[in-house]
Amino acid sequence: MKNETLYQRALRVWGKEPQMLQVIEEMSELIKEILKNVNRKKDNVAEIIEETADVEIMLEQLKCCYDIKDKVEIYKSEKVKTIEKRLDEWEQTHDK
Ligand SMILES: [Mg+2]
Repeated sequence: MKNETLYQRALRVWGKEPQMLQVIEEMSELIKEILKNVNRKKDNVAEIIEETADVEIMLEQLKCCYDIKDKVEIYKSEKVKTIEKRLDEWEQTHDK
């Protein structure tokens, strides 16, 4: 357990299933804050910051849980390239 990361430790101590349910819970909290901000024009950037941090922490645990960190990184860099390409095409065909 010496070289164990904090995320591995959380999964070992609290269990994979509870932690994966916590991913969902934190995502739902972020969803709620975004909805309050967009739909109800609430000044809740502090809450959005907090919930974004919670979600990012839980996503790190999710990647650790399924051992998919490297694959996610590869997929993400491909997705980013696709988005960039779409943006280029969009800006070429639409007046600014
Ligand atoms: Mg939270």
